[in-house]
Amino acid sequence: MSLAHEALKRLQLGNEAFQRGESKPVDLSSDRIHELFHEGQHPFATVICCSDSRVAPEHIFGVGLGEIFVIRVAGNVIDSVVEASALYGCEHLGTPLLLVMGHTGCGAIAAALEEEALESPLPDQALDEAFHEAFEEAGTESLEKSEVNHLASLLSPIIEAIGHTCDPHEASILNVRSGIARLKAHPALAHLCEDFLEIRGALYHADSGRVEILPE
Ligand SMILES: [Zn+2]
Repeated sequence: MSLAHEALKRLQLGNEAFQRGESKPVDLSSDRIHELFHEGQHPFATVICCSDSRVAPEHIFGVGLGEIFVIRVAGNVIDSVVEASALYGCEHLGTPLLLVMGHTGCGAIAAALEEEALESPLPDQALDEAFHEAFEEAGTESLEKSEVNHLASLLSPIIEAIGHTCDPHEASILNVRSGIARLKAHPALAHLCEDFLEIRGALYHADSGRVEILPE
C-alpha cells in the first residue's frame, strides 16, 4: 500500500470512529505541544476544506496536533495562495496525500447558485427554486444582493466550476473536481504527483458526519 493510500485509510478510519461517536482522545498536553515545537511537524496529509464551523477536519478525522496540514477557505476555493499553501504541505512537509474536501449544506455553494439566479434578467423557476433549496440545505438564510456582490471574488471561481447545475449536491462535487483539476495543473504539484503525491477529493456529509471519498 502506498503512503498516500495509507494516509487516506487513516483518515477514513478516523472518520468512521467519529461517526460512531468513538473518536479517540487526542494528546493536547503541554508535553506534546513542546515535543512538536522542538521536533517540528510531520503531518501525514494536507487537507483543503471549507471554513464552515461545522466542518472541522481535526474532529471529523479524529486527529491531533501535528497530524494534518489544513488549509481552510470558504467554499474550499483554490486560488494562488491556497496552491502555495498546498505546495508547502506536500513538497516541504512531504505529505503524500492532498485531499480537497467539499461539504453538503455549503453556504458558499448556495450563494453561488443564488448569484446565478440573480444575474439572470428573468430568473427561471428552476434557478429560483434551486437557490432557495440550496440555502435551506445549507442551514442559512438567503443573501441580499448587496451581500452577494461583496462575495464576488469568492463566488466567481465557484460559479465557473459548477456550470449550470441547479443541484447543490452536484455543485459541491463539481467545485471539488474543479479544485483538483487546478491543483493537478500546477507544475510543481504535477511533478510531485509523478513521484509520491496523490490528490483526491471528498465530500463531507454535514448532516451525518460521513466523509465520502470521491472516485478518482
Ligand atoms: Zn462551506
